[in-house]
Amino acid sequence: MDVLEIAKNLIKVKSISPNDNGCFHIITSELSKIGFDINFDNYKNVENLIATIGEKGPIFCFLGHTDVVPEGPIDEWKHHPYDAVVENDILFGRGAADMKSSIAAFISATSKFLDKVKNPNFQIWILLTSNEEGEIDDGKIDKIISRLMNENKFIDYCLVGEASSSEIVGDVIRRGRRGSLTGYLTVIGKQGHVAYPNKAINPIHHSGEIIEKLSNIVWDKGNKFFEPTTFQVSNINSGTGATNVVPKDLNMIFNLRFSPESNAAELKNRIEKILNDGEFKYEIEWVQNAEPYFTEKDQFINLIQSVLEKVNGKKAIINNGGGTSDGRWIAPMGTQVIELGPLNKTIHQIDEQIPISDLEKTEKIYLGILEEINSN
Ligand SMILES: [Zn+2]
Repeated sequence: MDVLEIAKNLIKVKSISPNDNGCFHIITSELSKIGFDINFDNYKNVENLIATIGEKGPIFCFLGHTDVVPEGPIDEWKHHPYDAVVENDILFGRGAADMKSSIAAFISATSKFLDKVKNPNFQIWILLTSNEEGEIDDGKIDKIISRLMNENKFIDYCLVGEASSSEIVGDVIRRGRRGSLTGYLTVIGKQGHVAYPNKAINPIHHSGEIIEKLSNIVWDKGNKFFEPTTFQVSNINSGTGATNVVPKDLNMIFNLRFSPESNAAELKNRIEKILNDGEFKYEIEWVQNAEPYFTEKDQFINLIQSVLEKVNGKKAIINNGGGTSDGRWIAPMGTQVIELGPLNKTIHQIDEQIPISDLEKTEKIYLGILEEINSN
């Protein structure tokens, strides 16, 4: 199957996290044809595929995920999100950009590479999970990484196919990501009648001062490769529904995306100190969703840049913004992890799409990277 055919077949599978729902069947039948060994390593309800070929030399790994986020209101889509319609040379569907096209490009680029090069001097792995987008409780790729490390297997180079690009494929790549820390805060007041405020404590009013303080803090200044740490409130809930009642408590969820200039423990301390200074009671629970990571070594990134220079006539900009990615699980192996994939303009949106020319370019860049590794 060519790259478009694979991408279309994958989009037609409704694989909402953490359910692969049959994508792996399509993928493994393609990979078996070109000689890959297929292994599954499943945890809870998450499926993970490790496909490998070759036994000697450094390990290069394509990393990705078959799951997608929900499609939202289907009638707002121009084309049904799981029909994989091509119109005006643009492929529409959930996962078209994040990241079924990248998986299709992993497979077809590898297939073309192995057609040309019978005995590569490195090993190729394709590591895919069915739960990149979903909840961490369902299990992540981290379990596999721990197992591999216990078995003394280490990935040397990892290309994450997440949609990193901005205007043209390959104009932006990532060599790291910020960390993510979520706070679940309950501000505890005292319920009462709105007409007798002296007898009540209003947690909604206190939330105002909390947001005011936390949103004005400069947490750090970031560094050459990372934007400064940011604080955002994502949810607030309070109130009994009645117009004349001061509610007892308020629940707030906030998130910090933090650069390596800060760390989770320090951020928690700073926030708890501010909360302790307030004249209210509170409870807080923390969930650290991700540690920041950064690829220090230049070898793999230089190799990728030389491919991008050939394809685009210019090197990519390095930007380590965006959400977290599964690259964070691989980095602790000492792996050089770089993210490079299609445009991220429509990811997670209604009418998610990829121009066919971008799909083919992604394949071309991945093929170039395989050739470049082999010639090094
Ligand atoms: Zn993704």
